Amino acid sequence: TTSTQSADSAATDEQDHSESGDLEFVIAYTCKHLNDREAKWSTTEKEAYAIIHSVDVFRTYLYGRKFTVFTDHQPLEWLMRKSEPAGRLARWASKLQEFDIVIGNRPGKSHQNADTLSRIPILPIAKVESKTEPQINNLEKEWTELQHEDNYCRRIIENLKKIKNGNKKGNINGYKLNEKQELIDRYGRIVVPIVKIREIMEENHDHILAGHLGITKSLARLQRQYSWPNMRSDVMAYVNSCLKCARRKAFGTSEAPLQPLPPVNRIWERIAMDVVGRIQESVKGYKYILVLSDYVS
Ligand SMILES: [Zn+2]
Repeated sequence: TTSTQSADSAATDEQDHSESGDLEFVIAYTCKHLNDREAKWSTTEKEAYAIIHSVDVFRTYLYGRKFTVFTDHQPLEWLMRKSEPAGRLARWASKLQEFDIVIGNRPGKSHQNADTLSRIPILPIAKVESKTEPQINNLEKEWTELQHEDNYCRRIIENLKKIKNGNKKGNINGYKLNEKQELIDRYGRIVVPIVKIREIMEENHDHILAGHLGITKSLARLQRQYSWPNMRSDVMAYVNSCLKCARRKAFGTSEAPLQPLPPVNRIWERIAMDVVGRIQESVKGYKYILVLSDYVS
């Protein structure tokens, strides 16, 4: 839940537990505008209200089953710690007692280090991760290691360190080292090591909620968070070879005039075939699809 001038929250569903326990998808949002009196409440109180509102809205799904509420401000602990809640708070507390709630902490932005990875969180658009402090640090460690193993990144890091010693601005062509002097970004976008490029493109194009956008939109989405040399041509090649995109594209873009064919009466009397590709290589190494279709059936 987050609360600003309105109390809002999202219901998410965890899927794919076996492969990645952190993957969540948004199923529904709910939001409620606060009146003048409610707007004056403390953040914790608003957060608590957001939870009350959401359990009301999603009651059908929540009642009788264990579920987890993620918030920034620990409003539930605050509410339950009150020894004798009165009035509104008492009503809220008793309402929540009907439910089997697990409290999960998802610290907000204010709790994070003001460092490259938290300024530009490495989050695919569609994926919601439970981001606690140690995870941010792990993510940062992983990226740092990958950048240091990457020739291109390492060369820039070394150059940046050199000019830093020479007391210059600490910036080459927009590349900059973070406070710890180990991770580089370019104009605030994290520099992607080669080994990670494919994964990043996949996350931002193929993900169930990323929606297989075209080249321009996929590129724009990636550029908000990431930077690497030849990004445009990589994204072009990637999107052009995407199997799902190829499947969805309309057939018959050829310029040749259509030739009317005499009608057929039986199955197998005439078939048509075409090759689709080159497409994204499959696990077994296939790059093309031969499509055969029968004119009658
Ligand atoms: Zn696609």
